[in-house]
Amino acid sequence: LANRAFHPEDTIVDVDGVKVGGGHMALIAGPCSVESEEQVIAIAKEVKAAGANMLRGGAFKPRTSPYAFQGLGSTGLDYLVAAKKETGLPIVSELMSADDIDEFNEKVDLVQIGARNMQNFTLLKEVGARVKKPILLKRGLSATYQEWIMSAEYIMASGNENVILCERGVRTFETYTRNTLDLQAIPVLRKMTHLPVIIDPSHAGGKWWLVEPMAKASVAAGCDGLLIEVHNDPEHALCDGAQSLKPKKYTKLIEELREIGKVV
Ligand code: PEP
Ligand code: MN
Repeated sequence: LANRAFHPEDTIVDVDGVKVGGGHMALIAGPCSVESEEQVIAIAKEVKAAGANMLRGGAFKPRTSPYAFQGLGSTGLDYLVAAKKETGLPIVSELMSADDIDEFNEKVDLVQIGARNMQNFTLLKEVGARVKKPILLKRGLSATYQEWIMSAEYIMASGNENVILCERGVRTFETYTRNTLDLQAIPVLRKMTHLPVIIDPSHAGGKWWLVEPMAKASVAAGCDGLLIEVHNDPEHALCDGAQSLKPKKYTKLIEELREIGKVV
């Protein structure tokens, strides 16, 4: 179902009225974790003014350590809904458990499956069968293109064909950066599939100053969108502060991206 050979034209995914793919760019921005209603509304207003067309915030967080901040859960989703009411931006958030699908169907516009769950096949089947919203499928930490596409295939074969793929860096021998951004994913996946391909330079590099050059390279390489972490106080962020842009930097980045290619 994901194969370009049987579906030559680009798929355009509709996220609550925002088109992604076939020349339409997703500019997804927001904090790694929703921390408070004021925080997420303030960031939503700033990224919207910059040109973002979707707001992302984590409520259910897949943290490496069980002692790290795990997210606000349902309350976090409610704060995102409040931010959508203020700004009109569609909401993106990560689903970790099939138990939460009904709630996500109600509150979230684009349902993220994180890198760590890319091969959680039970979850993928449930998501395909029961999630009524489009899916943002991140690449697994060490997944090949074929494995990643087969995970999209699980979701599609179970009933939901609205899948957006997100490259977020892969694990390599390099430890200086968090992951290594695989820009080749853009042309390769465009050849192999008809699904939109977006890039997350924040989790790829793990450093805020790598976001700008990698976002520019991604647009030049023809991505269908960017997922970028933006925080109003990165030094005190509860998660991923080191890779988060301040709103001013995000605004400047979007302006510069407009000179490279069509954004939004
Ligand atoms: C995230 O998007 O905040 C996240 C945890 O990313 P990934 O699943 O790509 O590690
Ligand atoms: Mn994050």
